[in-house]
Amino acid sequence: MANKNYYEILGVDKSASDDEIKSAYRRMAKKYHPDINKEAGAAEKFKDVNEAYEVLSDKTKRSNYDKYGDPNGGFFGGNSGGAGFGGFSQNGFSSSGFGGFDFDDIFNMFGGGFGGGSTTRSSSAVRGEDLQVQINLTFKEAVLGCKKDITITRQEQCSSCNGTGAKGGTEYTTCSTCKGTGIATYTENTLFGRMVRQGVCKDCNGTGKSIKVKCSECGGAGIKKVNKVISINIPAGIDNHQVITVRGSGNAGRRGGANGDLHIIVNIKDHKLLERDGYDLKIKIYVPFYTLIRGGEIDVPLADGYTTLKIPELTQSNTVFKIKGKGIKNLNGNVYGDLLVTIVAESPKTLSREDKKILDTLINSIPESSFARYKSYLKDLDSVK
Ligand SMILES: [Zn+2]
Ligand SMILES: [Zn+2]
Repeated sequence: MANKNYYEILGVDKSASDDEIKSAYRRMAKKYHPDINKEAGAAEKFKDVNEAYEVLSDKTKRSNYDKYGDPNGGFFGGNSGGAGFGGFSQNGFSSSGFGGFDFDDIFNMFGGGFGGGSTTRSSSAVRGEDLQVQINLTFKEAVLGCKKDITITRQEQCSSCNGTGAKGGTEYTTCSTCKGTGIATYTENTLFGRMVRQGVCKDCNGTGKSIKVKCSECGGAGIKKVNKVISINIPAGIDNHQVITVRGSGNAGRRGGANGDLHIIVNIKDHKLLERDGYDLKIKIYVPFYTLIRGGEIDVPLADGYTTLKIPELTQSNTVFKIKGKGIKNLNGNVYGDLLVTIVAESPKTLSREDKKILDTLINSIPESSFARYKSYLKDLDSVK
């Protein structure tokens, strides 16, 4: 998705309130409505205005857009500098476009006084609401990826009436007010004077159907709340607080409207020893000071299992060993980060008299000149004294 500046499109500040955004949208939509503005490019601008409003009027999308420059949670792009992972989409639903836009608003605004003839059934369609759930993952599950079943409560189309709200899906007649179109004509006093407005039929709520006998399953609503288990593929490398969006898995749309989306917010439990830094893993390990001097081997944890690190003789404290490719998988490709191991010398807490004697022998046998950095420090110290 191109990085459009939605605030600029609507001509508002980044700090604009919901009301300011709404009124800016109305102003701009009026300006570029293709029925009013016949200039070249107006239709394109009208589309941009709608797209901007769709994002900025939605709390989640606006916050995603502010944070990541992508309303669909370029959550994955967020960490990797926006490397074109525009929203994670399962079930093969498209991640862009503004199919969810509720065109009711435009109809209400223009009261059908312009253009006319645009009375389509779809104007009464309502998109289902987006749903949000949290999911807890262990560090390992997040790094390696996993499959999770989550239970959500959502509105689905009632199956016993096929969403009609009428018993058996057949106990209805055509609405006499709108003759089945779902659109009725109302006269209203508006900003533009007295206007004839075409809108969703109030008698049938835009269904075009008059229910004779209500469906007992949904009480005539055509939708009902159900608990649903959804299997989610968690991609390897997902980071804390990232969001997986499953398109169309939110609440069911009404009257032919699209389903809402399901947003899954990921919470990852900290690892006891490993720390994540982008796609790298980090660990700081204290080893006995003599391991650094004499060399040795230590076990280092991985996200899954462990590996053995060889510490060469005469290693300095705070040396960082890079274990290549043992970090986290990049969400955008088959590339792995590294595991960075910092080795630090630990001195003993106590020494026996015997230990001290042995150490003294050692100290006396190693000339001070063996410590190049210390020697250089002493020289510099002399010069500043
Ligand atoms: Zn029903
Ligand atoms: Zn009707």
